[in-house]
Amino acid sequence: MNQLTKSLLSWVEIDGKALVANARALRAQTDSRVTFCSALKANAYGHGLILCAQILQREDATDWIAVNSLWEAEKLRAHGITLPLYIMGYIPLPELEGVFAHDVRIVVYNQETVIRLEEIGKRLGKIARVHLKVETGNHRQGVYEHDIPSWITLFNTCKHVVLEGLSTHFANIEDTHDHSYAQQQIQRFDGYFSIFREAGIPIPYLHSANSAATILFSKTHGTLVRAGVALYGLWPSDEVNHEVNQLRKDTIILAPVLSWRARIAQVRPIPKGSLIGYGCSYRAERDMTIAIIPVGYYDGFDRGLSNNGEVLIHGRRAKLCGRVCMNMIMVDVTDINDLHVEDEVTLIGRDGNDEITAGEMAEKIGTIHYEIVTRIREDIPRIEV
Ligand SMILES: *Cc1c(COP(=O)(O)O)cnc(C)c1O
Repeated sequence: MNQLTKSLLSWVEIDGKALVANARALRAQTDSRVTFCSALKANAYGHGLILCAQILQREDATDWIAVNSLWEAEKLRAHGITLPLYIMGYIPLPELEGVFAHDVRIVVYNQETVIRLEEIGKRLGKIARVHLKVETGNHRQGVYEHDIPSWITLFNTCKHVVLEGLSTHFANIEDTHDHSYAQQQIQRFDGYFSIFREAGIPIPYLHSANSAATILFSKTHGTLVRAGVALYGLWPSDEVNHEVNQLRKDTIILAPVLSWRARIAQVRPIPKGSLIGYGCSYRAERDMTIAIIPVGYYDGFDRGLSNNGEVLIHGRRAKLCGRVCMNMIMVDVTDINDLHVEDEVTLIGRDGNDEITAGEMAEKIGTIHYEIVTRIREDIPRIEV
């Protein structure tokens, strides 16, 4: 490891075993016939799209992979990923030929998309598989129940577009202990399925479950689950963690997959009374030693952590002093002995007996751990350990 990272300023370590164990733990929540789809959008929640896909494929730990956009699918195909791919975001009409070129399934909610796919499919002599996103209460992507007849008419006219799936997404499952809103969504989703069943249209894939639903409600599993955040060893929320591990007394073990590390660029004394960094926002109240860490807000280390965040060095906490810069932070290492240039620093993860979690960082700046990890700059190397 040390050899590999010696010349790097900053890198992300991916625990492949933990990723696979999390996938298996989630899969164990579902019936063995349920297709397990891993959400690898947003650079696999910051964990590295290609690396995570390769690990999951190599270890046979997922059936499908879901991403947001066509270019992510294109990248996966270019790196030898042969698993079924499902695209959850919007694809511009002029780009739809890529659906055939990269052999991907896509979610649809605009009839324009289906009409264009039919035209392209006819020209190429190929078939596109689509999943209709229906509105059950999230009011993000989706189509209303009263529009279903016109969708059925459209699908009946298509020879090159097949309706393969029906999907929806929960609005309020991990943010609360009150699951009545989610229950309503489950019921509405069942209603859509009945409409298609009564119209004699078979739909192989029915899916609504994200990580929280996969963990909490088996009746949401349908024939496919789409798990994201929990795959990376991050609980969807404290509420879900509490419900499972306290109330239900189950044991689902999720192990964090990602550690973010860097190296010290300088260690230097700071005389009492000095002002540190932009805006002179930190005043040294004693003679101090600080370390300069070559990571800043450009790298995804949030500026809200100015005078607020901490890092681990030699297993000890060092507080940020001054504002987070574009490419650097300064930390107080006065009480940490025997420091050298290029010693390892942990921004997220474990070092010795202490650990800084993405959740801890998120809390400090009033966001969620999803945002902390997805914002780690994409071209910082992701390395499997
Ligand atoms: C991101 C995403 C998921 C995964 O959600 P998690 O809460 O991270 O498990 C599932 N479905 C859709 C449509 C998504 O966009």
